[in-house]
Amino acid sequence: MTTTLQDCRALDAQDPLAPLRGHFALPPGVIYLDGNSLGVAPKAAAARVADVVTREWGTDLIQSWNTASWFDLPQRLGNQLAPLIGAGKDEVVCTDSTSINLYKVLSAALNIAREDSPARKRIVSERSNFPTDLYIAEGLCKERGLDLVLVEPEEIAAALTSDVAVLMLTHVNYRTGAMHDMAAITAAAHAQGILCVWDLAHSAGAVPVDLNGAGADFSIGCGYKYLNGGPGAPAFVWVHPRHASRFWQPLSGWWGHAAPFAFTPDYQPAPGITRYLCGTQPIISLSALQCGLDVFTAAQSLGGMAALRTKSLALTDLFIQLVEERCAGHGLGLATPRDHAQRGSQVCLTRDEGAGVNGQGSGAYAIVQALIARGVIGDFRKGDGGTGRHKDILRFGFTPLYLGFEDVWNAVEHLRQVLESGEWRKPEFNQTHAVT
Ligand SMILES: *Cc1c(COP(=O)(O)O)cnc(C)c1O
Repeated sequence: MTTTLQDCRALDAQDPLAPLRGHFALPPGVIYLDGNSLGVAPKAAAARVADVVTREWGTDLIQSWNTASWFDLPQRLGNQLAPLIGAGKDEVVCTDSTSINLYKVLSAALNIAREDSPARKRIVSERSNFPTDLYIAEGLCKERGLDLVLVEPEEIAAALTSDVAVLMLTHVNYRTGAMHDMAAITAAAHAQGILCVWDLAHSAGAVPVDLNGAGADFSIGCGYKYLNGGPGAPAFVWVHPRHASRFWQPLSGWWGHAAPFAFTPDYQPAPGITRYLCGTQPIISLSALQCGLDVFTAAQSLGGMAALRTKSLALTDLFIQLVEERCAGHGLGLATPRDHAQRGSQVCLTRDEGAGVNGQGSGAYAIVQALIARGVIGDFRKGDGGTGRHKDILRFGFTPLYLGFEDVWNAVEHLRQVLESGEWRKPEFNQTHAVT
């Protein structure tokens, strides 16, 4: 049965999460499908940051480390985030960037795995993992004389051999939106004595995650994507309590010291996750991130992550259905799994090589640019130029906190018009920018 605009409006009218949209400063005329890359600003953020700058910093100055509780903000935000990822109290801190936190946990994981069994010399990851994860792993391998082994998703199980120290995966793939079965893969790795590091960049706040339930070892993720913490927001790091106090992380700065204000010349790591802090924390950025987390706290009474997941799947199902019904015959394909168990909160469309202007390229980049000009903001991820398994991708993130079903209808209607009018062929949409 085809879905109409009226059907979409009816779905919005019945949506129990609809009030959450009011927490966000959505620019008028924009359908924002890039919350998987940079989330929308919570309305509270501007006033909160202004208050930190003018009152806490401006007036109270250094006393605010105590009076405004700046000092334990990484731990407090970690505790606020913990329920979204299946972590316990005092198991998470919000700090540093995802790349830096990955360096810390991957180092600690290698130390633990190799102390227990020095013959393990490999890190296994997925070839289509987000590049920074692969670069950090490559750097660590170089530093320590280890090997980074990259495989396709269907090859992971066979790659879990007795010489592997750590399996490092991103739970939801940034290119395709495909989601791994964290519990099953972790169990398979553990059965071979391999530790697991999970990157939750496209999972935290997007899909329910249960780190403790899966028995995962280490995890990291972004604050500025689905958590709406602002550009470059502090990331988070979780370490299972069985490992947290076992090794120093390599960036053993004073904020991870057991008694930072004792100012002793030697390092004594704090017990637990606090040792994963390094230096003085970015309080203004952490304050903005708190506003993002506050929306999830508000969502608790409306059903929390379970309700958000139900809506997210309904939004992505609808988008797939409408694209297939209304945009057929334009060379689009689906890169995201149809199976709910394997889908994150984004939908990625492929476009065939040679479907671009004058048979050059795929035209996917230009279609995304034409959509952006109409206020439908998604993004483009380059494929491998028709040489291998990755096509160019049009990527659309669906954040159930602030998107509705009518937004999905309108986004597909714009896509249909862009394709049918050939508007995307205009030269201005075929010029590349620095950040895509
Ligand atoms: C977005 C993303 C990152 C970003 O890392 P930064 O240090 O914040 O630049 C890392 N890993 C994955 C899987 C991502 O999707």
